[in-house]
Amino acid sequence: MLFPHPGTFILSNWPNGDHWWGNQVFYPDANIIATGKTYADLLKHVDVSKEKVQLSIENDIRNLEAKLAQEPDVDKRRSQAHEIATRREILTAIPIFEPTIPHLTLEHQLTFHGSKRTVEVLTYGGGHTRSDAFLYLPDDQILFMGDLLFVHTHPWIGDGDPEEWVHILQQVEQLNFTVAVPGHGPVGGRSDMALNRHYLTALVVLVEECMSKGLPLEEATKTTLPEPFNSWEGAEIFD
Ligand SMILES: [Zn+2]
Repeated sequence: MLFPHPGTFILSNWPNGDHWWGNQVFYPDANIIATGKTYADLLKHVDVSKEKVQLSIENDIRNLEAKLAQEPDVDKRRSQAHEIATRREILTAIPIFEPTIPHLTLEHQLTFHGSKRTVEVLTYGGGHTRSDAFLYLPDDQILFMGDLLFVHTHPWIGDGDPEEWVHILQQVEQLNFTVAVPGHGPVGGRSDMALNRHYLTALVVLVEECMSKGLPLEEATKTTLPEPFNSWEGAEIFD
């Protein structure tokens, strides 16, 4: 049986700019989906000014360039240069940016029973952000995890809750999958999901140690994670 309303469906899996700023390209031909909480968060951004976005990204670039100028480590330099290039690319897209929020929401699960495969949009709560959604293709054993998974790359936790994130990954690992596609970087599998969970646990332990020693922030930020995490890409995210 064919899906009765063929068309394109876009999942804005959380409210960070890199996961919804392109929505205007697909609207109104596509149906844009998000969790109820992400929808509520995006409503706050619907009046965001392009000038404000531009200033914020230009500020990011200046900060990264200042770090790059003083960074002796080759791997960190490469990673910082990549981050700068990404932001310069976003700057070129600002003229076509039109805040476009979802118009379909889910609270737990939305299932597409397609003619060739089933696709589940799932949310187990908020770990990377206040509310994270991801895609599961059970027949293909593939997950599209967005930023709930980083493969050999430091995860961005600035908007998240690492303990909830660990809890979410434990639930994800109960699903039957072999391939897990992250929102950024190389594709991973089941072992990467567990590694990402161990990373988050190690980070919580590290922060608790720093707090119990009463380390000032400048000292705490000089501490490092145990291997293999300390050698992961994107060290400037950890810094
Ligand atoms: Zn992202």
